[in-house]
Amino acid sequence: MAFVIVDTCTKDAHCVDACPAGCIHPTQAEPSFERAPQLYINPDECIDCGACVPVCPANSIYAVEDLPAELSRFVEINASYYAH
Ligand code: SF4
Repeated sequence: MAFVIVDTCTKDAHCVDACPAGCIHPTQAEPSFERAPQLYINPDECIDCGACVPVCPANSIYAVEDLPAELSRFVEINASYYAH
């Protein structure tokens, strides 16, 4: 399991600061931040703590098991960001 960010993300990056695992990218320090359409959670590093959820002003972060069916594609979209 992991947490997943969906495309209502506004890149406020509060989650980046809240995440104890450092598994949300790109961070504002990374060159790709400006062109990234949203932020993504690395499913291999997420420790399922849930700290990112309440700090998201756009309510764009879900536990995988809580993802609405119409947003299920974001499991793969988040994982794909790290598949290189
Ligand atoms: Fe980071 Fe915890 Fe959110 Fe996973 S659930 S992305 S470890 S803050």
